[in-house]
Amino acid sequence: MEMTDNSPRDNFPEVADRASDATTRPTALPIKPPSSSAGWKIIPETLELRERIKRAAVDYLAGVDRSKALTRAQLQQWAQDLLIRLGLGEQYLGFAAVCLSNEFWREQLMAIDFTKRLLLLPHCLKHAEGCPADYDEFGLDCRKCGACTIADFKTRAEDLGYKVLVAEGTPIVLKIILSGQVDGIVGVACLNVLEKALDKVLQVQVPALAVPLLSSNCKNTSVDVHWVQEVIALRAVPPAVQTRSYLPLLRAANDLFAGELETLAPRLRSPSANHDPLALTETIAYDWLRQGGKRFRPFITLAAYDALQGAPATCRKEPVSFPVPVKRIALAIEVFHKASLVHDDIEDNDAYRYGQETLHRQYGIATAINVGDYLIGLGYRLAARCRNEMDGAACSDILHKLAEAHMKLSEGQGAELAWRDAADKTLTPLDALKIYALKTAPAFEAALYAGLRLAGPGHQYEKPVAEFCRHLGVAFQILNDLQDWDGDDDNKLLAGQDILSGRPTLLLALALEGLPAPQRQMVLHLLEQTDVGVERLETVRRWFESAGVFARAEQLVEKHRARAEAVADEIQPDSLRELLYYLVDNVLVRRRRQPEDASPEAPFRPTVSIPLSLAVVH
Ligand code: SF4
Repeated sequence: MEMTDNSPRDNFPEVADRASDATTRPTALPIKPPSSSAGWKIIPETLELRERIKRAAVDYLAGVDRSKALTRAQLQQWAQDLLIRLGLGEQYLGFAAVCLSNEFWREQLMAIDFTKRLLLLPHCLKHAEGCPADYDEFGLDCRKCGACTIADFKTRAEDLGYKVLVAEGTPIVLKIILSGQVDGIVGVACLNVLEKALDKVLQVQVPALAVPLLSSNCKNTSVDVHWVQEVIALRAVPPAVQTRSYLPLLRAANDLFAGELETLAPRLRSPSANHDPLALTETIAYDWLRQGGKRFRPFITLAAYDALQGAPATCRKEPVSFPVPVKRIALAIEVFHKASLVHDDIEDNDAYRYGQETLHRQYGIATAINVGDYLIGLGYRLAARCRNEMDGAACSDILHKLAEAHMKLSEGQGAELAWRDAADKTLTPLDALKIYALKTAPAFEAALYAGLRLAGPGHQYEKPVAEFCRHLGVAFQILNDLQDWDGDDDNKLLAGQDILSGRPTLLLALALEGLPAPQRQMVLHLLEQTDVGVERLETVRRWFESAGVFARAEQLVEKHRARAEAVADEIQPDSLRELLYYLVDNVLVRRRRQPEDASPEAPFRPTVSIPLSLAVVH
């Protein structure tokens, strides 16, 4: 279908109605993308075709409701629709999705001050043979020698006031966004990196524009220079409609540990009493609380409380504040989570967390157990302390839910430990799913219930919240199992770590059910070994694939996702239902490994004055 130059909407009348009908939750994709996502990551070969798709994306979204945040399913559906209408093939799906996401956010990014924008440039644009720049923990330290386009983009952006990074690591970018230093991103990267970054951008719902590289060669790549310069310089007055976003709530959860920890949870001992053995446990505990973590569980509590007030925080640009008891309970939720991580790492004998040695490797098992116990006490102290600041009945209901979740988590972990120590390694998929429902769901349930109970009686939510979190928790745990076969560079974990540490996973249960006897015996034998080599693990991976283990696990994830969504479909008010959809979209994401992430400790190299005490986001 050729573009005419009369009113663009005439070109896509029915599309405009479809695009602006953003209230319905997009159902499954009409066309299944090709098996490997590489199939839809072709850059349109000519500048003319790239410009045609960019213009069509602007027409396609004319008049679309931008008050609701974008989801991955929505974006993919629009991109497929747009290509069908342009008579183009699905190989351009990735490119079309970038153009549509850009058009969705363009006006809102243009309204963000240059000093609150981050320009992310890929180091593969550098002159590979002659680049004099070195790498440091901030990425590539461009010397602006002019041998490649990075110098021009960096100079132009910094002159306007941008913060600039030549790196592709999402953890550091996420940290910068959640710290409130940046409200908008302009990124240049190949479609592979953009697809991986997309989940994070959709999670934090920050205005972001991207310019895809013309190839994914990772060396001496090139880009439409005019497009990058055009995007960098975009500036305009704020648009009438701002997209509602959970970013202020994600930041509020982050701030609980960045600035408010000592106020909300004053120490029993003075921080300066470092050498006082009585203060040691507290010191280690508070340092551990500040380390790492997405702060997703306290976010859930704050967002649930906010949702029952009509979600005002999602419409705010400036930092949001909450009543002290709400913040304390949210803090307590994360303190319990951090306590369970300390004990989990000991029970699983994990060596690294957040890319650093686990607490028991740093201080010894006994001290780590004790710090975990201290944190459990601190969690209950924080929650109980609210009895004077809020409705006593609500406070005891929340304490009851926290204690109940604590016991269920221990039951689930206990069942896993009992299986590990047992000689009989019988394990059915149902056994594994029961453990998952106890190990993961209660923490989500406690976080969500606490936020709702802080906002009101909440009785009508107890049953649907429990059911929603059971499906969310089980699907999340199965996704963890699947991700285990991707490995984890940050925490120096090999792919297939669950087999190495003999964990009773759903994948193992499906394998024991589906593998022929000799292979089943071999897998059971491997569970007893301590030195299983990579080759044997790759053999196990091939057996799991041949027995359809990964495919069945992914089907179960989709089944539990659909059941969680079905519960959400019945929930009122809208603001709470949307929060549950957001949790499904952002908790149940299959995270792919990010090879060259910068170290999580460092903020970016200050080119303009930036406070360096940024909280860690992992
Ligand atoms: S402009 Fe910067 S990135 Fe490019 S070659 Fe020179 S120093 Fe390297």
